[in-house]
Amino acid sequence: MQNSYRGRFAPSPTGPLHFGSLVAAVGSYLDARTRGGEWLLRMEDVDTPRNVPGAADAILKTLEVYGFEWNGPVLYQSSRFAAYAAALEALKRCGLAYGCACSRKEIADSATHPAVDGGLAYPGTCRNGLPPGREARAWRLRVNDDEIAFDDRLQGRVAQHLESDVGDFVLRRADGLFAYQLAVAVDDDFQQISHVVRGADLLASTPRQIWLQRCLGFSRPIYAHLPVAANAAGEKLSKQTLAPALAPDLAAAELVRALAFLGQDVPAQLARATVAEVWAWAHENWSFDAIPRQPGIIVPRA
Ligand SMILES: [Zn+2]
Repeated sequence: MQNSYRGRFAPSPTGPLHFGSLVAAVGSYLDARTRGGEWLLRMEDVDTPRNVPGAADAILKTLEVYGFEWNGPVLYQSSRFAAYAAALEALKRCGLAYGCACSRKEIADSATHPAVDGGLAYPGTCRNGLPPGREARAWRLRVNDDEIAFDDRLQGRVAQHLESDVGDFVLRRADGLFAYQLAVAVDDDFQQISHVVRGADLLASTPRQIWLQRCLGFSRPIYAHLPVAANAAGEKLSKQTLAPALAPDLAAAELVRALAFLGQDVPAQLARATVAEVWAWAHENWSFDAIPRQPGIIVPRA
């Protein structure tokens, strides 16, 4: 079974890699490699207006300098629109996807409660047909209120009722772009990903991706959601919170810091070692069980 392990790291080229992305890269990489698995790279550039020119190449360069080795070519979501369109067509054909005419304001005016990850749960206005005289702006996926549950390797059992927690969610946006959830489900299947190891900021997305896998007849990967790194103010590290880019000349020290953040018992002197020495130590000593089992954000040690 070991050889069937296929993991992945899927950054968005909206800016340079920062410590938060490094934690996800290190966690997914070591889980794959220490189990004899493959580790694939996917550039999640489906939301093209958010892409920053040059960021994808800069991310790949940083991963190289930090000593990551990936299997096969990098998969760019921007090259996959035909596959997403085919998945959407399949969902339309079986009546699971439907056109939605609602504007953001109309949803805000008619929604009754918030969704699990912010925003508003879609109230289902168009699910039985478009209002008279209106045209579809977006395409949504029909959900039901069955419980969608999975056992996360770190966070334990996670369950949602999509109808009340999210509502019918968007597959293709009003601007014509495919939604992140659809792209991820289609690409995890295309790349035959068996294990997803990523930040817990995506935990609330997972039931939607599982629902898509069911609707499209895909198999479900095994999930592990890592703790998420925060800055000193307790905000998740991101482009929005101005997380600094990973410095190429601090690769060994930053890798050691990421390992420590993931609960690994790293010897202090390793921060002054070479990148190759850090990886050698990590391959030898990696303990998945040492990863903190908390979904919240953690301020890393300096
Ligand atoms: Zn609608």
